[in-house]
Amino acid sequence: MSDEVFDLLVIGAGMAGLTAAAKSARNGKKVCLVEVGGDIGGSARFAGYAWTAPTHEIMNAENPRGDATLKRALVDRFADGVEWIRSVGIDVDNAQRILDFGGQGHKFDTNHYIDTCRRIVTEAGGELVLRADTESLLLENGTVAGATVRVDGAIRQFRSPNTLLATGGFQGDKDLLAEHVHPDAGKMQLRSNPTSCGAGYRLASAVGASTGSEDAGFYGHLIPSGVELSDPSDFVDMSLYYSEHALLFNLNNERFVDETLGDHLTTMALLDQPESRGLLIADARVHRDWMLASYVEGAIALDKFDLGNKRGGRVGMAEDLEEFEYMPEEWGYEGKVIAAAIAEFNRAADAGEHLSPARARDRSSLAAGPYYFIEAAPAVTFPFHGIRIDDRARVLNKDGVPIAGLLAAGSDTGGLWHRAYAGGIASALVFGLTAADTAC
Ligand SMILES: Cc1cc2nc3c(=O)[nH]c(=O)nc-3n(C[C@H](O)[C@H](O)[C@H](O)COP(=O)(O)OP(=O)(O)OC[C@H]3O[C@@H](n4cnc5c(N)ncnc54)[C@H](O)[C@@H]3O)c2cc1C
Repeated sequence: MSDEVFDLLVIGAGMAGLTAAAKSARNGKKVCLVEVGGDIGGSARFAGYAWTAPTHEIMNAENPRGDATLKRALVDRFADGVEWIRSVGIDVDNAQRILDFGGQGHKFDTNHYIDTCRRIVTEAGGELVLRADTESLLLENGTVAGATVRVDGAIRQFRSPNTLLATGGFQGDKDLLAEHVHPDAGKMQLRSNPTSCGAGYRLASAVGASTGSEDAGFYGHLIPSGVELSDPSDFVDMSLYYSEHALLFNLNNERFVDETLGDHLTTMALLDQPESRGLLIADARVHRDWMLASYVEGAIALDKFDLGNKRGGRVGMAEDLEEFEYMPEEWGYEGKVIAAAIAEFNRAADAGEHLSPARARDRSSLAAGPYYFIEAAPAVTFPFHGIRIDDRARVLNKDGVPIAGLLAAGSDTGGLWHRAYAGGIASALVFGLTAADTAC
């Protein structure tokens, strides 16, 4: 077995890995990209927006328990990240508001970006190895010096003073989900590329990396219960983004979360409820203004009720609150009790009284029939628990000291988000670029 030597070895060719590889290649470095799948791009192929909190104040208000150093780096370096995307020839739209808390970002063609990064790497003489399974990191005197990789049944050893882990998280591994996200997390449907199964997490752990944080949660969305996410287009089409304007009831016929904080947060709360399912209820206003509308400027508007219905989801309608009593018994909810709860919610909302649970944003009553029900379940995109890094993307050991030669970026990393979220593309972009700078 002969050794092949590179300035940067990247494991995982998605948003973070390709960004780091392309930036390093542009800096004249010899790069090797190792990808387990038959193609590159990972979940970034399904994304459309680079966005995050535009200021430290907004980031801290939205994500108070995230790692302070990583949050600061993300906000401070985001604009440079967007400029980098433009610098490789990709059109990036002007800034627009993303989500009600004040997130901000840019629409761009992630597929064009991915393919451009690949071209930059290969034209610079870099190597892209597909269908490659990394067996272990080379650890020499406490320093990571590359990796041992199985390709087409043969073992190859790639040596480098800088190895970047960018395998996109462990959402594809039910055991890691159950251990580090929630005992029931492995039962969720996967709303992500299917290949991010914790390789980076395991490789880093095997050389003594620190991981965390526990109970940090995950990024995902609500989808209609019982609907199989069979095609990547379902990831967006089936996500019930309008949920922040609707009401969500659990099997005890109670609201249990501030729905207005966003679908991505409600998802974590629903996982914790009985049977991890709940009834999402919209009235005629929410149906017209939010269910039928695009969730962010530039996204295609789809009728989520119609789609959920066609795909065999548990959906229903009631002309008014009185009709709730005819809700099918086998669903497990008591329609009359939920109708009474909505009537009380409407009274308190119209009177400006305290709502329980509170509604921080949309406090409007849901008073106009017909009502539209969709039973919702949580789906996972990536966990917030992961490999701990510093603001130079260096992997930290259990004493908080960087492990020489080892970097990580994107959804493989933990600490940045804690039961809060403001952009997976942004963090993969920023810390991918940071990893390239550190490697240089
Ligand atoms: C439907 C959908 C829409 C989204 N929309 C947005 C959006 O608009 N804005 C936003 O900010 N975020 C969005 N996201 C999230 C965003 O896509 C991710 O946060 C981002 O892609 C993470 O980048 P990454 O490089 O860490 O992982 P990925 O981009 O997923 O790349 C990981 C790569 O590593 C590879 N890999 C896995 N295991 C191995 C291994 N053992 N060896 C080698 N390679 C391996 C994978 O095959 C994959 O190619 C969306 C996600 C989904 C699923």
